[in-house]
Amino acid sequence: MRKPRLGVVSLGCPKNATDTEVMLGLLKEEGVEITFQVEEAEICLVNTCSFIGEARQESVRNLVELADQGKELIIAGCLAQHYKEELLKEIPEARAVVGTGDISKIADVVKAISQDSSLRVVEVSEIPNDYHDEVLPRLKTGMGASAYLKIAEGCDHNCSFCIIPLLRGRFRSRSIESLTKEARMLVDGGVKEIILVSQDSTYYGLDIYGRMALPELLRALSEIEELAWIRIMYAYPSEMNMALLETIACLPKVVKYVDIPLQHSHPEILSLMARPQGPEKILARIRENIKDVKIRSTFIVGFPGETEEHFEHLLQFITESRFDRLGVFTYSRQMEVPSGHMPGQVPLKVKRARRNRIMKAQHQIASEANRALVGREIDVLIENFEGKTGLYCGRSSWDAPEIDNLVYVRDPENEFVTMGDIVRVKIDEARPYDLYGRAIASSVAVPS
Ligand code: SF4
Repeated sequence: MRKPRLGVVSLGCPKNATDTEVMLGLLKEEGVEITFQVEEAEICLVNTCSFIGEARQESVRNLVELADQGKELIIAGCLAQHYKEELLKEIPEARAVVGTGDISKIADVVKAISQDSSLRVVEVSEIPNDYHDEVLPRLKTGMGASAYLKIAEGCDHNCSFCIIPLLRGRFRSRSIESLTKEARMLVDGGVKEIILVSQDSTYYGLDIYGRMALPELLRALSEIEELAWIRIMYAYPSEMNMALLETIACLPKVVKYVDIPLQHSHPEILSLMARPQGPEKILARIRENIKDVKIRSTFIVGFPGETEEHFEHLLQFITESRFDRLGVFTYSRQMEVPSGHMPGQVPLKVKRARRNRIMKAQHQIASEANRALVGREIDVLIENFEGKTGLYCGRSSWDAPEIDNLVYVRDPENEFVTMGDIVRVKIDEARPYDLYGRAIASSVAVPS
C-alpha cells in the first residue's frame, strides 16, 4: 500500500479548525505522514466552508488551485456536506468527499484510497448526526497558548438566513467529563486559554442533560489549575440567563467578554430573520450583571425587506450601544433557506453603503474606547514577536483570536516577556483598533 504524504488546508470557522485538528490527529495515529507544506504533499485534505456565497467561492478557489498543482484531493467540511457526490463530478482530482458528521471515518477513507488508486469515496451522512463524546486524538495546528474546544455540533434554531442546520445537523453536546478531559490534555500541552465554540454555546447541555449546562461546564473547567482564561464564543441572545451571567461574573478564569451575535435591532427585521427580539434589554442585563464586561456583536445589513427606516434604527442602536467589538456583514442570498425567497432583496451597492456607514460610526466608538485605556494596566497573552518592529504582539482578555484587537508590547530589557505567557502591560498609546504598551510584570498569576 502506498503511503501518500498528506497536506492540509483548513478554511472557515473555529469549529472547522477543530475538526481539521481531529482529522489530522486520527490520521497521524494511523501513521499517515502529514506535512504543513502543501507543495510537498501528494494528496491534500481541504476542510471547506459553505456558510455563504463568498465562503463557497473561497473553498472552490482553493480546490481548483490545488488541483491545478496536480494534487489529489480529499474534500471535507461544509462544502462536502452541501454538494456531496456532485463535487466528484465537478472536480476530477477529488478522491474522496467526507461529510461534517463523518470526520471520525477519515482514517478509513485515506486507507481505502491509498490501497486502490482508482477508488473514489463518498463518506457523507445524509443528515450529519454523529458526534463523538470520547476524546479523539488532535494534532494542534496553531494558536500557540490558545486552543478552541468545540463543545457541541449542529444547531436547533432556524434563523431564516442560515444554512448551518442543513450542513451541521441538530444540536449535539459533548459531555462535561469528555470536554474537561480534553481541556486538561490541552493545558498539559501548554495551553493557557481555552475558547469554547459551537453554533450556539449558551444552548449547551439541553440535549443531553435536559437543562442549559454551560455554567456547570465553566465550573468544571475552572478546576483546571494551570488554565488561565476561558472564553465563550457564540452566545444566543435569548439564552443569556441569570445563572450564566452570574457564573461568568463570579468565576475569575472566565474572561469578562461576551460574544453575542444580535444580527439586527428592528423588531420587524428580527422577526423576518426568526431571531430573538429586544436586543437592548439583553445588552443592559449583561452590563448590569458582569462588571467591566466587553461585548462583541455581529449584524447583518441589507436583509430582504430592510428599508432605510429599518437601517436608521439599526445605526442608531449600534451608535448608542457602543459595542466594544463589532462585525458587520452584508446579507448573502441563499436559495436553500427561507430568506432567499423573501421579497425586497436589497441591491449590493446599498448593502455595502449601509455596512460602511456602520463601520464609520464604529471606528469613532472604538477609537474613544481605546483612548480611555491609556494609562491602564492590562493582562496580555503574548502570541507573536515582530522582528521588524522589535515588538511582541498579543491579545487582552477582551480580544478573541483572528477577529478582535491586538496589543503591541515593548520589553526593552527583555525582563518580562516569554512567548505564550500572560504578562501585565501598561498601556501608553491607543490606535482605533490596537493598543501599545510596556511590559511591567511577567507570568501574571493564574486566577484560582
Ligand atoms: S443560531 Fe447561528 S448557527 Fe443556528 S441557525 Fe441561527 S445563525 Fe445559524
